Amino acid sequence: MWERLDMLSELANQADAPSLLSVARSELPRLTDGWRALLAAHEPDERGNCPECSTRWRQQKSPCSVWRAAYEHLVAGGLAARPARHMLSHQEQPAPVQRGAHRTALAAH
Ligand SMILES: [Zn+2]
Repeated sequence: MWERLDMLSELANQADAPSLLSVARSELPRLTDGWRALLAAHEPDERGNCPECSTRWRQQKSPCSVWRAAYEHLVAGGLAARPARHMLSHQEQPAPVQRGAHRTALAAH
């Protein structure tokens, strides 16, 4: 699981635009689905407790720590624009592959 997240962070920093776009298209819905499932499980019940974090002996008042962490991350700052440090290191980016364009140009000669 951690490796997968690391891989996505690395892609966000290093992938060229076309592959980043395709990764975003396939991975973002999975991430948002994951958040939704997590938050749905920790949504307060009719008594204002978190059903997931409560036990039979001890009720956990909502918002529980999971919900608060999610809120902090998604709303309070996580999605706000941060300085994009990776933009400064252009030399690390792989050259974009333009196979189709080159082939056609050569074939014309
Ligand atoms: Zn909870």
